[in-house]
Amino acid sequence: MSNTNCPCGRDNSYTDCCGRIHTAIHKAITAEDLMRSRYTAFTQANGNYLMKSHHTSTRPIHEKKEIVRWAKAVQWVKLEVLGHTAGQSQDKEGTVEFKAFFFENGQLQVIHENSKFVKQHNHWVYIGEA
Ligand SMILES: [Zn+2]
Repeated sequence: MSNTNCPCGRDNSYTDCCGRIHTAIHKAITAEDLMRSRYTAFTQANGNYLMKSHHTSTRPIHEKKEIVRWAKAVQWVKLEVLGHTAGQSQDKEGTVEFKAFFFENGQLQVIHENSKFVKQHNHWVYIGEA
């Protein structure tokens, strides 16, 4: 992987991949696009986008500072998307199973989650674990 690739692991540059979604969230066509854009936002400690891409009913607004601090403190390694259900452009919900790898205090850690995504305000958002 060259370092011009998007942090989410796709073959495009950040600008042509998650960057487009960070500037215009409705450009996430699938739940997986949105999930990848959230991973990339974690690697950039982009708290505003992490809040915006989170369903308002479960948005951890009071933990935003803590999330940003944590996202900056760890070293992001890579994202692996393991599978998904629904979550296509015509769907209203979907799930994406993924592993996100990072170093925390020198130890390789992995978050393995099956995440649920729904549409809110006509675009994909993360709502929580499936
Ligand atoms: Zn990307």
